[in-house]
Amino acid sequence: MSTNAQLFERAQLSIPGGVNSPVRAFRAVGGTPRFIARAQGAYMWDAEGAKYIDYIGSWGPMILGHGHPAVLDAVLKAAHDGFSFGAPTEREVELAEEIIRHVPSIEQVRLVSSGTEAGMSAIRLARGATGRSKIVKFEGCYHGHADALLVKAGSGLATFGHPTSAGVPAEVVQHTLVLEYNNLEQIEEVFKTQGHEIACVMIEPIAGNMNFVRAQVPFVKRIRELCDQHGALFVFDEVMTGFRVALGSAQSVYTQAIPGFRPDISVFGKVIGGGMPLAAFGTSRKIMQNLAPLGPVYQAGTLSGNPVATACGLATLKEISKPGFYEALGARTKSLVAGLTQAAKTAGVPFVGDSEGGMFGFFFASELPQNYNVVMATDKERFNRFFHGMLDCGVYLAPALYEAGFVSAAHTDADIAATVAAAASVLAKA
Ligand SMILES: *Cc1c(COP(=O)(O)O)cnc(C)c1O
Repeated sequence: MSTNAQLFERAQLSIPGGVNSPVRAFRAVGGTPRFIARAQGAYMWDAEGAKYIDYIGSWGPMILGHGHPAVLDAVLKAAHDGFSFGAPTEREVELAEEIIRHVPSIEQVRLVSSGTEAGMSAIRLARGATGRSKIVKFEGCYHGHADALLVKAGSGLATFGHPTSAGVPAEVVQHTLVLEYNNLEQIEEVFKTQGHEIACVMIEPIAGNMNFVRAQVPFVKRIRELCDQHGALFVFDEVMTGFRVALGSAQSVYTQAIPGFRPDISVFGKVIGGGMPLAAFGTSRKIMQNLAPLGPVYQAGTLSGNPVATACGLATLKEISKPGFYEALGARTKSLVAGLTQAAKTAGVPFVGDSEGGMFGFFFASELPQNYNVVMATDKERFNRFFHGMLDCGVYLAPALYEAGFVSAAHTDADIAATVAAAASVLAKA
């Protein structure tokens, strides 16, 4: 038995499913997950010494590639100064200032340790600030695994959503309304009937948890208007897109298309921690005043603003704010998608892809899906064959058709060319 398979068997004895986060178990694509021993730059090596070009990048954080020297140095220095104090530090102020500097919609942030925590806290803040209970989310958007957010749409618009996880009582999700992504009629209807009860609308502006689906500009614009008219807050979950698709995050992409556009609350994670457990939520100073210790909305964390994690995040932000960073990253990601598209075309396989900055997606379909149901109806069998074919060629793509992909600054043109060549050979066979 291979070392990966042995480790997986052993892992399943002490850890449920052998993994600490479900997608890692390869359930969607089948086969044995690779146990990663180490990573450097754009590459990872598994427990058997096999090398992979990494397009997961820890699901987004590793925008500089693995082991970037400046980041590694900052982390080692910080570790020498102490792992955690449970008291304020200058570095967390610096990180907050850096985030605020690049994202004009926010005046204050609070640092937490995971995207789940940030999303959950953003909802509590929105509810506390508005004095309302209902929240709107969209099918296929993931905002972490807080109870109130593990919901799928009910049978009709007027009905409440159903929990998507056992252990979440129906009462806990009774205030969560789940609508179809990019569906203007549904959002109009919900605001018409319940607008005065809605605390916030939460969205992944470029949804990366159903592969890669952009919220259409008219959709975002209309939600902004409806929130303003009805006194609801618009929450951008940028845990994945934040500092990944642009230095100003996905909201800067929408501000270009909709002059003056800003979300009310923004949620960050992944890239801002550079691979360490760190996330944040932020908004105007006025709304943030509702948060403890200033206001009545309670929120806290033993390891929040951790000194080693903030050092990692700060060093990462410093590198990605250098001039030309996103132009180069965006161009490389585009060339990957263009190369894959061409390889599929040559093989006569229906294929579409899209990207923004260092985030991309592709589908075995003839046009880009606009919502979750369409994503899930794309060719899963072909995706799974493609995934395993690529893995055998040393290319590590996300192991599920509903996940996005990530290119880092460490990926070279040669890495992209090798990936495209692998895709051409895999698609010719399948
Ligand atoms: C990853 C992710 C989360 C959850 O973050 P964790 O750090 O895994 O808790 C929330 N929202 C979005 C959009 C994400 O991609």
